[in-house]
Amino acid sequence: MPSLAEEVDRRRTFAIISHPDAGKTTLTEKLLLFGGAIQLAGAVKARGERRRARSDWMKVEQERGISVASSVMTYEYLGRTFNLLDTPGHEDFSEDTYRTLTAVDSAVMVIDAAKGIEAQTRKLFEVCRLRDVPIVTFVNKLDREGRDPFELLDEVEQTLALDVTPASWPIGMGQRFKGCYDLIHDRLILVERGNNDRPAEGIQCNGLDDPKLDELLPADLVTELREQVEMARGLCPEFDLEAFRQGTMTPVYFGSALNNFGVRELLEGVADYAPSPRPQPAVERSISPAEDKVSAFVFKIQANMDPKHRDRIAFVRLSSGHFKRGMKLKHVRSGKMMTMHNPVLFLARDREVAEEAWPGDIIGIPNHGNLRIGDTLTEGEDLHVKGIPSFAPELLQRVRPTDPMKMKHLSRAVEQLAEEGAAKAFKTRLGSQWIVGVVGALQFEVLADRIRTEYDVPVTFETAGLHTARWLAADDPAELKKFIDAHQGDLAEDHDGDPVFLARNGWHLNHTAETWPKLRLLATKEPA
Ligand code: GDP
Repeated sequence: MPSLAEEVDRRRTFAIISHPDAGKTTLTEKLLLFGGAIQLAGAVKARGERRRARSDWMKVEQERGISVASSVMTYEYLGRTFNLLDTPGHEDFSEDTYRTLTAVDSAVMVIDAAKGIEAQTRKLFEVCRLRDVPIVTFVNKLDREGRDPFELLDEVEQTLALDVTPASWPIGMGQRFKGCYDLIHDRLILVERGNNDRPAEGIQCNGLDDPKLDELLPADLVTELREQVEMARGLCPEFDLEAFRQGTMTPVYFGSALNNFGVRELLEGVADYAPSPRPQPAVERSISPAEDKVSAFVFKIQANMDPKHRDRIAFVRLSSGHFKRGMKLKHVRSGKMMTMHNPVLFLARDREVAEEAWPGDIIGIPNHGNLRIGDTLTEGEDLHVKGIPSFAPELLQRVRPTDPMKMKHLSRAVEQLAEEGAAKAFKTRLGSQWIVGVVGALQFEVLADRIRTEYDVPVTFETAGLHTARWLAADDPAELKKFIDAHQGDLAEDHDGDPVFLARNGWHLNHTAETWPKLRLLATKEPA
């Protein structure tokens, strides 16, 4: 019987953050190969294809070449269990990504060697920083001409205000790329051309002065390597595990995901240095993973994963305890007990019933809408996990059914999608119209497609003349009521029934804030 402490210790729950095209999908495939989770590179895509065949809205995804739905992949390697949480890369879907990042203990940041830090890398990094998530950096595409490694290290340090330390050093680049020198284990790792499903074994060296280097590499490259590493060691601080775990230092690996080069070293880095599940903050207290009692929280909802059943899967991260199938957990928001009959485990290739799970693991709980993002499950204690915010949408449109008789069906669809977190849905006080809010314009297309295919309601989205939405709060309930009474025409309710102010433009928002100083107009909302 494995002990709870051991199981916690061997878990690594992480995500990959990157700008689109940096190589996240390619790297994910290669990482899965190590776990033997899939035999063939390309299986990630193949699985995507199968899903696409099922649902029309995936066409949008396919056409735009972006991945909308995030998923979880669990695999074993080196005696560890890795839970890799996939995040949608396109900026239109950033809210889902943000929430997913609340469920990881570390992240791998992929950077294209030719492009350096890009807009989306930076945004996602900032989200990680909010929770001091430790970051391992992977500079990708070394098989192409890229920027000078010193320049890249400097850019990471400057733009992200992080200490950087190279974990490996590239030998040449582009056509001349020969491999990397592993600075942590004093290993030389050479590229094996034409063999990108099996990574090269390293060649153990006795430091950089080892004559083996001179035998194996062209003289000019060896000289360059020695000079550069000496310089890098002089310029960069040494790897400091504590600083990394506190999120102030990132080790940088160089490689090429496409050629499966540097990927094993990266994975070893995650295995050796990335933290096992961390304590989870809750309103009442901090939850330690090694506590005997099970606690968990919902960070994502996916509706209609199985088109045959109109059910939803809540993605739940275990914060503590040894979870077993069939156990009863308290759904703290409603106070009701729920029996975990059919929890699902997400293996790289498939989903299967989870007989047990440990802290850091992600399980899927099928349900009919009672579980919402941010909800906490426990063995009885009233705990409310913190830090899973909702963001005010930046784009708002009115949605109507093409057939007015289908208003009821539309309501159901919109409410479900809002609970899934795919969009914000606001019902206006006057006229009971549905206003849908999203972070990126592309989401409207995806939503229209999903409402049509999954709920059989053709809809149109149209401009609503709205700028943004703000949740309302005030210390004095009378003040809040006064405001609500005076602004019926600008008010709506979100799917939790909380009041929301709909601003027509920037001026309207600012003016309201100035006129009602005791009222708080909030751009984010934490679940109650
Ligand atoms: P994502 O958008 O971050 O998921 O990026 P992908 O993994 O889909 O990669 C984007 C493009 O870069 C694809 O055409 C990949 O084949 C290519 N790519 C990924 N890794 C490498 C690499 O190491 N070298 C080169 N030359 N191309 C790569």
